[in-house]
Order: sequence, then structure tokens, then C-alpha cells
Amino acid sequence: MTVRADLHMHSSFSGDSDTPMDEMIRAGLSRGLTHICFTEHMDLDYPVSSETPPGFFELDGDAYRRAFLGCREHWGEHIGLLFGVELGLQPHLAQANARFARSYEFDMIIGSSHVCHGKDPYYPSFFEGRSQEEAYREYFTSILENIRVFSEFDVYGHLDYVVRYGPRREQGYSYAAYRELFDAILTALIQKGKGIELNTGGLSGGLREPHPCLEVLRRYRELGGEILTVGSDAHTPDRVGGFFDRAREILEACGFRYYTVFEKRKPIFIPL
Ligand SMILES: [Zn+2]
Ligand SMILES: [Zn+2]
Repeated sequence: MTVRADLHMHSSFSGDSDTPMDEMIRAGLSRGLTHICFTEHMDLDYPVSSETPPGFFELDGDAYRRAFLGCREHWGEHIGLLFGVELGLQPHLAQANARFARSYEFDMIIGSSHVCHGKDPYYPSFFEGRSQEEAYREYFTSILENIRVFSEFDVYGHLDYVVRYGPRREQGYSYAAYRELFDAILTALIQKGKGIELNTGGLSGGLREPHPCLEVLRRYRELGGEILTVGSDAHTPDRVGGFFDRAREILEACGFRYYTVFEKRKPIFIPL
């Protein structure tokens, strides 16, 4: 058995996807998934650039809700359709993000770090003038800052997202190299009753390991972490459910017996 719930994907309601929701749903059905969760981007105060005009990653929640309900009406008998959001966390946005989180009946909220102290590591300027290790360290430290001030989320997204974009990517990167930061992050999440996700987007993008890497997943389990969702982070239909056989192998190797689906923000555990 493979993992059959893809709890992280985007459609045309996200600034960086043009895919109609229907196409993502069809892809989920064709891959035999039991559930998919739309987790559209909502990044308030995302840095403005020529590619990202003001409001580029801000979600029109009302339009999104209407379209989602239409899809559920149409497809709901065939696949579990879940209504989610991927909130871009920054400490100063804690109140505004909490307000948005409470304004809709979400099934699941992913809290993600895309912007670290005003910069997205997606852009090379985040790494300029310092070592890769310093940049990674700043990114992981900012995750801790978010967890301390924000609670309206269910899982923290792609914990080591920064590794996708480092000049040497996975080289020199391991759980051990950032042990004290990862242990602090994982412990804080477990204490708050929050989970993490295994995000296969990195594998689709050519990394050897998912987000986060295997040692971090194993450590989360060792520390008592149980809430673990799996998501492709697909922005196009071809990536829906991508690398889910590999995800199951990884989860088993890291000591997990279950993966998690959220409905109305309550975890449901599904045996692997
Ligand atoms: Zn993300
Ligand atoms: Zn995403």
C-alpha cells in the first residue's frame, strides 16, 4: 500500500499556479487517492518584486471557498476533498494570520516559512555575502520564532525548504549539523500538539530526500511526534501524489506506522 492522501497542493487560487481545481482533482482520482487537500498560498506581506507585485500571494478566501464547494458538490462522492490553506508565517503577522485562519472552516492549515526576516530563500540574495550554513541557521531560527508566537496551524510545512535553494543545496546539510535547532523546533511543535509534513516537492525537484530530510523525520518520531501528513506540493496535475511510494518507504524506515489526514482540523490516523 502506498500513501493515498495528498494534503498539500495548489491550484489557480495560488499566485504561482494556473491549474484549475478540477484538473488537480482528476489527477488525484487517476492516481487512486482517497483524499486531497487544497492548500492555497496566503502569504501576507510577501516581498514585492518585478515578479511578485503587491498581494501576489494573497488569497481571495470567499472566491476560493465558493469554487471549492462547487467542486465538492461535483466530485465529493468519488474522493475526499479537503479545504485547506498554506499560511506564510512571519512573527509580525501572527494576529493577522490567526484572524484569517478563523474566518473560514478549514480542514487543515499548513504553517510555512517562505519569508525569513523579510527575504524568501527562493531568491539568491538570501544567501549572498555569507556561508550556506549561516543562511540555513537563520532560516531554522526563524521557524522557532514563528512557533513561539503562532498557534493557528496544524502542521508545519516543508521544514527544511531552505535546502532547495542553497548554493550547495544538500551538501554539508544534515540533521546533525543543526541538531540543537531541529530538536528545539520538533520539541516545541510536539508540545503544542502540532504536526509536520513529509513534503515530496523536493524529490520532484531533484533533491535526494524529501522535506524534511530522513534524519529529521526519524528524530520527530523518536521525540514522540505522531502527526505526520504527506503532501506533494503540486502546482500542476503531473505532480499530484508524486513520489508517494517512496514516502511510504521513508515513513516506515523512520518508525511511523500511520500517516494523518485532517478533517475540520482534527487529525485522523491512517495505518501505513
Ligand atoms: Zn510552501
Ligand atoms: Zn505549497
